[in-house]
Amino acid sequence: TPRVFSGVQPTGNLHLGNYLGAVRRFVAMQDEYPCIYCVVDLHAITVWQDPVELTQATHNVTAAYLAAGIDPKRSIVFNQSRVTAHAELAWIFNCVARMGWLNRMTQFKEKAGKDRENASAGLFVYPNLMAADILAYQATHVPVGEDQKQHLELTRDIAQKFNHDYSERLASLGYGEDGMFPMTEPIIQGPATRVMSLRDGSKKMSKSEASDASRINLTDDADMIAQKIRKAKTDPEPLPSELKGLEGRAEADNLVGIYAALANTTKDAVLAQYGGQGFSAFKPALAELAVEVLAPMNDEMRRLVADPGHLDAVLADGAARANEIAAPILHDVKRVVGFVT
Ligand code: ATP
Ligand code: MG
Repeated sequence: TPRVFSGVQPTGNLHLGNYLGAVRRFVAMQDEYPCIYCVVDLHAITVWQDPVELTQATHNVTAAYLAAGIDPKRSIVFNQSRVTAHAELAWIFNCVARMGWLNRMTQFKEKAGKDRENASAGLFVYPNLMAADILAYQATHVPVGEDQKQHLELTRDIAQKFNHDYSERLASLGYGEDGMFPMTEPIIQGPATRVMSLRDGSKKMSKSEASDASRINLTDDADMIAQKIRKAKTDPEPLPSELKGLEGRAEADNLVGIYAALANTTKDAVLAQYGGQGFSAFKPALAELAVEVLAPMNDEMRRLVADPGHLDAVLADGAARANEIAAPILHDVKRVVGFVT
């Protein structure tokens, strides 16, 4: 049976990349599938989080989910640490995944930086926890940004190795040829699957990047949005009228992609309209469009964050429903492995 799972880390303010690459897609998928949307607090602490800020960020991500249009009655919205299946299955996957697989993960290399000896062990096994998040619900579809593609491939590798290593046992417990874990499909679609930093067209926009000017936060007001777009790094050339004219122009490509995503159109269509025009004309149009899309969400987020009691109730209810799905799957995994349950 099809099921969607995805998550966002409570590591700071959600930004335009999280919205266009992930959360907006979460909203759309509710019409087609049963969906589970998690605030992945266990993932967040793989790098240091101030406890007070972690709690606030958990509320902020939950508010952003709801403000964007995730319906907590239809979909399951909860925070990861509340459902113990995630941590338990992650341990089992720590024993399935190979060091060599994890050594190839580019996110670890980027986040650990030069001082790898000082990175947390959790940051290294982050992808195993992500596989557990997904497979604890036997989820079949995972909407994510392009940066998570490699982790989704690892999730499939873990699922395949588990199914293979325990194939005899699975068969004796009545599982068919395909084992117990599905080959989960990443859903990476649209013109904004990798929104880049406004200051550096070679780096993705990130919550955890130090420079606030590098991103548009969902909490930024209209003036701030306009200012950040005005100051965004660009080249001096006018926009091309065809897609291939964006090659080698990372910053221009990024702004055109953002425009296309916000306007629900394609980069081709944006270039057909703005080709030949300079950034002095394009940037104000982009700012206006961004404010138009983000302002109502911004208002709704403010309203929701002012009532943390309501957000806590949503998370508690979601956790109970998530646990109902994950607990029997985890119980089966334990039987498969041979644990006395
Ligand atoms: P951090 O810097 O703490 O890792 P982040 O901005 O990368 O924060 P995550 O919580 O790691 O955000 O990712 C949440 C979702 O947003 C994932 O599906 C991820 O692929 C997507 N995402 C993150 N950054 C971008 C981006 N720049 N463009 C498109 N999608 C993105
Ligand atoms: Mg990230």
